[in-house]
Amino acid sequence: MNMAALESGRGVRLLNPEEDHTFSLDEDSMNQIFGRDDVKDRYVVVLSVAGAFRKGKSFILNFFLRYLNHKYNLKDNGDWLGDEKVPLKGFSWRGGSERHTTGLVLWSQPFLTTINGDKVAIFLMDTQGTFDSSSTVKDNATVFALSTMLSSVQIYNVSQNIEEDDLQHLQLFTDYGRLALENTSGKPFQKLELLVRDWNYAYEYPYGAGGGAQLLEKRLQLQNNQHEELQSLRRHIKECFEEIGCFLMPHPGLIVATDPQFTGTLADISSEFKTSLRELVPMLLAPDNLICKKIAGQLLKAKDMVHYFKAYMTVFNG
Ligand code: GDP
Ligand code: MG
Repeated sequence: MNMAALESGRGVRLLNPEEDHTFSLDEDSMNQIFGRDDVKDRYVVVLSVAGAFRKGKSFILNFFLRYLNHKYNLKDNGDWLGDEKVPLKGFSWRGGSERHTTGLVLWSQPFLTTINGDKVAIFLMDTQGTFDSSSTVKDNATVFALSTMLSSVQIYNVSQNIEEDDLQHLQLFTDYGRLALENTSGKPFQKLELLVRDWNYAYEYPYGAGGGAQLLEKRLQLQNNQHEELQSLRRHIKECFEEIGCFLMPHPGLIVATDPQFTGTLADISSEFKTSLRELVPMLLAPDNLICKKIAGQLLKAKDMVHYFKAYMTVFNG
């Protein structure tokens, strides 16, 4: 596969934590990426992946990159998943060598296409943070709130199941986000996709979007005998997003999960995982499924992203 176009991109850190618990923004990089002559006047699709550390977020983003490159750069309608032996490149994954700093990383090269005649640029956003104690949850809420506010599709990556904890974190992030969007009417955010990794109960709910929808309905269900807090949490989440989906992802196999020599080659990934990738990635990124970013009902252009980013930062750092 021709990866040249992909190799010209890189992950750029836009948001960095400071010692006093505020965040600093790399405005120059932002202006370069969103202000590019052939990008600034396009509508934007911004897909973000958020969730706890070391749960395969950057790994799966690199399959999104592979698809986007294949479809929109190479304009190839054939098989996008590619060669069995090619290592997985793009956003740095596996951690290990890199320190686990909180932050927000944007792929420097958007993918350009048109939707119904409108010019569009597709951006991918990676987030880094931890939820291992209540204090880190709060610190990182800024990152996740910002990524929710700036994306048109927020993928919330969770491990193994949708637990009450996951929903509570989601409420915290969206609360912060709502604060900054206070005077807007309607639902503040567009699409939320819960991506459950290492789903172990395919006999109960099958892999993919179908099983995900069933699990999600069960988890977000309001019941009369439920504690009022649990009910209001569920109502709140539904009020925040125009659309909520869930996708159940199978385990990628032991090599992916445990082998330090694993380079991301398809040959080492379970066939169930690959089958699910073929469902998940086009579901999010095929031309007919792209969702353009809106704020308060208005479509945003790339050049507006910088303005909003800065405005939101002021709220959080204030
Ligand atoms: P991130 O911190 O969430 O971005 O996680 P990474 O993408 O860096 O991946 C962390 C580790 O998890 C790597 O060693 C991957 O090989 C592994 N990994 C990737 N996807 C999965 C998955 O779906 N399940 C499991 N169990 N491990 C995964
Ligand atoms: Mg990562």
